Amino acid sequence: MSARRDLPWRATRDPYAVLVSEVMLQQTQAARVAPAWRAFLDRFTDVQALASARLADVLTAWRGLGYNRRAVNLHRAARVLVEDHDGVVPDDLDALLALPGVGPYTARAVLAFAFDRDVAPVDTNVARVLARAVAGRPLGRTEVQRLADEAVPSGRGHDWSQALMDLGAGVCTARAARCTHCPARALCAWRTAGGDDPACTGALRPKPQGRFAGSDRYHRGRLVDALRRGAVDGGGLPAAADLRDRPRLERIVAAVIADGVAEWAGDHLRLPGGGEPG
Ligand code: SF4
Repeated sequence: MSARRDLPWRATRDPYAVLVSEVMLQQTQAARVAPAWRAFLDRFTDVQALASARLADVLTAWRGLGYNRRAVNLHRAARVLVEDHDGVVPDDLDALLALPGVGPYTARAVLAFAFDRDVAPVDTNVARVLARAVAGRPLGRTEVQRLADEAVPSGRGHDWSQALMDLGAGVCTARAARCTHCPARALCAWRTAGGDDPACTGALRPKPQGRFAGSDRYHRGRLVDALRRGAVDGGGLPAAADLRDRPRLERIVAAVIADGVAEWAGDHLRLPGGGEPG
């Protein structure tokens, strides 16, 4: 998850706008999300507008964010919200978790940032702060989430979660714990007890990213970008995906179709429900 500091969604309590921002932030850096988030909300102004839009248009608006399956899931989530919740984002953890593409982090982020509920979304920054400051030892995923939720001061879910994220992003960072600048230093378990850094061995430490250029994700991204410009026939797929390896290309095409990001229309591949030949 990316840092939320100094970014436009901090000011909104609109549950739909928060949901959109959190889905975008799942796998995209905040600096890239900011302009895309504004444009997306201008285009799809509320749950109903998103639910009634063509998926092809939603995927086109998702340009530049990557991991396009999130757009498919967000579109599906909007339709579930219209059908089951009268077009309203629910103030309920289980109902949020039932939405396509919404996991424990995103559901709690919506509850905390839109509804000020006593839950804490746990990203790698929050997990690191809790392991160091509260537990003083490595934490597993279930344990860190329980600890995070229990630590929220009653009625302060929004500010508490924001403060923990800011602390982890700017003071208690993965690279260095700047304890002399930290407001939690007097209470910090690791600073008090010493020993190995508990954030370096826990289940939530960040995983190293693989190389992007030449990866399946790169070729998928190239293919979907081409489909945003229009449908592509079979002969145009190698150029569209920047990939000559036929078996690998077929696997990538099958994957984007399985994700709901593309479909065959005759002998052309296109975004679902749209895209004339380019
Ligand atoms: S005192 Fe140091 S280790 Fe503890 S939370 Fe603050 S920055 Fe992190």
